[in-house]
Amino acid sequence: LLGTDFTNNLHLALIHSPVVNKNGKAIGSALTTIDLHDIARAAMTFGVKKFYVVTPFEDQQTLAHKIIEHWTDGIGGEVNPDRKDALELVKVASTFEDVCIDIGNEYTNKLITIGTSAKEYGNSTSIEKFKEELDKETPYVMAFGTAWGLSEGFIDNCDMILEPIKGNGDFNHLSVRSAVSIYMDRICN
Ligand code: SAM
Repeated sequence: LLGTDFTNNLHLALIHSPVVNKNGKAIGSALTTIDLHDIARAAMTFGVKKFYVVTPFEDQQTLAHKIIEHWTDGIGGEVNPDRKDALELVKVASTFEDVCIDIGNEYTNKLITIGTSAKEYGNSTSIEKFKEELDKETPYVMAFGTAWGLSEGFIDNCDMILEPIKGNGDFNHLSVRSAVSIYMDRICN
């Protein structure tokens, strides 16, 4: 089994609604296929339990299913079995609430929801502290934004916000794919 006791209970959710546009208005965004592939590979590499792609839009759900099926059941999986393994971790959900119900059904302990952002929040938890507090019986879901990021309302509803990833200067606006991989590496090492 890949992963640690903790990452086996860790889930990722890529949120396409509610996210904000550049004016801070709540919107729904379109699926980016590279996010699906790259985040699935990071999830598989670090032993994450499930990667949820969250979109309320039926056409986007159909697109996500089409990509997943091409690589898991279709010719893609025969040509590239590594990608097949990674994409088998992906599940499509309409809302984050559905994700929480789906995970909650598998565990006795209460699910902990974790928001992420490039922005600093006063009440954010450091990665070091997060690692210290991890409980191997407890399920966790880390939510990542698309477009200009998770809405303030979404972040407020999370049980915890992780501190942003910092680089060497003031700029820290990573692609969501990079943010997932960096968090996973910092959490696991
Ligand atoms: N269109 C963009 C792309 O190419 O990925 C989406 C940007 S979206 C705002 C990026 C998401 O990645 C954020 O909502 C957050 O979840 C995460 N993220 C990006 N930079 C981050 C940082 N420095 N620290 C923590 N999370 C970050």
